Amino acid sequence: MNYKAPRGTHDIFRINASRMSWLEQKAKVIFNRHGFEEVRTPAFEDAALFMRSIGQTTDIVEKEMYIFEDRKKRKLALRPEGTASLVRAFIEHRMDVSMPAGRFFYMGEMFRYERPQAGRYRQFHQIGAEFFGSSSPAADAEIIILAQDLLSSVGINKMNIYINSLGCEKCRPFFREALVKYLDSVRDLCEDCLRRLEKNPLRVLDCKTDSNKFTEVPRMSDYLCDCCKDNFNLTQSLLKSDGCNYTVDERLVRGLDYYTKTVFEIRSDAVGSQDALAAGGRYDNLIGELGGQDTPAVGFALGSERVLLAAQKTGFFDSFQESEKIFIAVADQELFSEAFSFALKAMRNGLKGNKNISVFGPVNGKSLTSQLKFADKIKAVKTIVFARTEFEDGKFLVKNMKDKTQTKVLISEF
Ligand code: ATP
Ligand code: MG
Repeated sequence: MNYKAPRGTHDIFRINASRMSWLEQKAKVIFNRHGFEEVRTPAFEDAALFMRSIGQTTDIVEKEMYIFEDRKKRKLALRPEGTASLVRAFIEHRMDVSMPAGRFFYMGEMFRYERPQAGRYRQFHQIGAEFFGSSSPAADAEIIILAQDLLSSVGINKMNIYINSLGCEKCRPFFREALVKYLDSVRDLCEDCLRRLEKNPLRVLDCKTDSNKFTEVPRMSDYLCDCCKDNFNLTQSLLKSDGCNYTVDERLVRGLDYYTKTVFEIRSDAVGSQDALAAGGRYDNLIGELGGQDTPAVGFALGSERVLLAAQKTGFFDSFQESEKIFIAVADQELFSEAFSFALKAMRNGLKGNKNISVFGPVNGKSLTSQLKFADKIKAVKTIVFARTEFEDGKFLVKNMKDKTQTKVLISEF
């Protein structure tokens, strides 16, 4: 029987695994500086949590969720994103009451039933942050800049940041009305759009099939209330004061229904058609709607696979030094336990002047020739050979595996 990883999933190993951990480490350092603390939530939740928060008429809920029943017939879903889970945890642990301001970050696998292609998978990784309890545009600006800084930290300096304001429950209904009126006049809308026109017309703006038909679509900016307008202006001036280059894109609505006011998306030219690297925005009503105390919030998530792809395209990883492989061999088996102790010491502490090493061996009961063959196979840079004559002088042989030269070196020097 031949088993393969399920369609749309992938094994991450070797260089890709190191890059992924590297990105996650980098993110932790940056989050820490901004005062965000880590939260790990379950990979599955009540399906209703996502339906309610992300929205019934979104792509994610309509066609991308992995929903299943457990043995007790509970309806569960593999998480398609992180925000809903973090909000659930925030409310469940009464943090909305005890610490109404909270900054949290998460990283982990997300699951969406999508058509797999480069940069689009059914299981992928996101790194995200949520800033609870601040309605200040400074929080919006900080979140956008945080996402931007994270991308820069992996060498992605060329990125396009798009922002928009979706307004609030006071002004959005007027825009919605104007939008519906306009969309009624557009011919040949696709089936999805026709269906959403009634329930969720903003979604229509996000439609990949129809978007080029919307030539004279009403502009949200004409409908924003004074408060939303002020907020959006201040967010922008804070972004500018940090030198952040962004573009206002009035069509940007994002694929989740919980957003209010500021939304943003960061794209890169480096990664082809799946060009969205990170996205987020404000969701001031979600915590209240899910049963918590009304708490404003803003957050973002980036897709690790796409970010790593973009980082790789910029050549960021080219100069990365992989650790040097060192093999410990024994020419005379009676020195095996000395060689083994030395190997352990090197594994624990590295070698003098060379900490970036990976140590292999020794292997007992094998001829020196077969040990050296193995060292070649694993691409060891150096092999350290424990041999009787040299050992009596407190030395071992260091074999350079490339040019096959060898030198005697005092063990104490390592
Ligand atoms: P897209 O428009 O590409 O479908 P999205 O709007 O669905 O993206 P979000 O829900 O905002 O994406 O998720 C944030 C980030 O997660 C995206 O910018 C992207 O980098 C990444 N992402 C989303 N879906 C996938 C996927 N199926 N595979 C890999 N990465 C993904
Ligand atoms: Mg999507």
